This record gives sequence, C-alpha cells and structure tokens, in this order.
Amino acid sequence: MKQTELQLPTQLSTHERNLIKKIVQTHPELTFRRGKRFAFRPPTTVIIGPFEPNYLLLFCHELGHALCMKHSFATDIERLKIERLAWEEAKKICIQYLIPYDEDFVEDQLDSYRDWLHAKSKCKKCGLTRYQTKNGQYHCPYCDLTA
Ligand SMILES: [Zn+2]
Ligand SMILES: [Zn+2]
Repeated sequence: MKQTELQLPTQLSTHERNLIKKIVQTHPELTFRRGKRFAFRPPTTVIIGPFEPNYLLLFCHELGHALCMKHSFATDIERLKIERLAWEEAKKICIQYLIPYDEDFVEDQLDSYRDWLHAKSKCKKCGLTRYQTKNGQYHCPYCDLTA
C-alpha cells in the first residue's frame, strides 16, 4: 500500500520514524497522508502535519480520533469530550509503543481547545455566552428574544 511510502520529516529520529511506520502498518483500515497540520478527516483519513516538537503525541492523538470514530458530535461540549477521548486513546498507543506521554502538553492542548470553544460561543452582538441546541445551532439568550 502507498501508506508505507509515507514521507516523514527528517528532523525525527530513525526510531521515531520507524515507530510511526509500524503504527501506520497496523492500521490498514485507515489512510495516512501528509498535510499542512495534524488533523483527522472522518471517516478514515489521518493527516500527518509538518515537524514540531510533540510530533509523536499529535500523531497518536489524531489516530485516537480515528479509533474512536463511533462517537458523533453535534454540540461543542460533545466535541470537547471527543478531544479528551482521543487523548485517552493516544495514551493507550503511547503506552503500547513506549512513547513518552506528556500530560502537561495534553492539558495545554485541551485548554486551548476550551478557550477556542468559549470564544466561539460568545455572541458577537452583545457579548453574552450563547447556548447550543442539539442540532449544533447557537442561540443568544438576549438577542434571540429581541430579534
Ligand atoms: Zn483532536
Ligand atoms: Zn446576543
């Protein structure tokens, strides 16, 4: 499969590159591609980003997303839960492959995700925190009443 030809950044050690290739090979059901940043494209594509310090962890996290794909999400609270689940999945992979798991880095990632969600939920007209209904739609407790 073309997955074994995956070009990985030269800044990684040989050990790290082999580890990623090994993990990739154990998941023939998934597609792995290089891209501009680490991401997961449902249902089965894991995008591998450019080099950065926590490369292996981010790789495991996106793979974690792919492995817990059964969960669908509509609201942002659910998305936050999925983020945590993907990290839990990443932790399992790290333990299995003896990849150092950095709790602080993971908490930072979750914090920035939380901040992003918080900023997103703010009403642009009045600044109040909006709420989200099950279909993913945001509503402002003030503006929706006066509209
Ligand atoms: Zn994620
Ligand atoms: Zn408003």
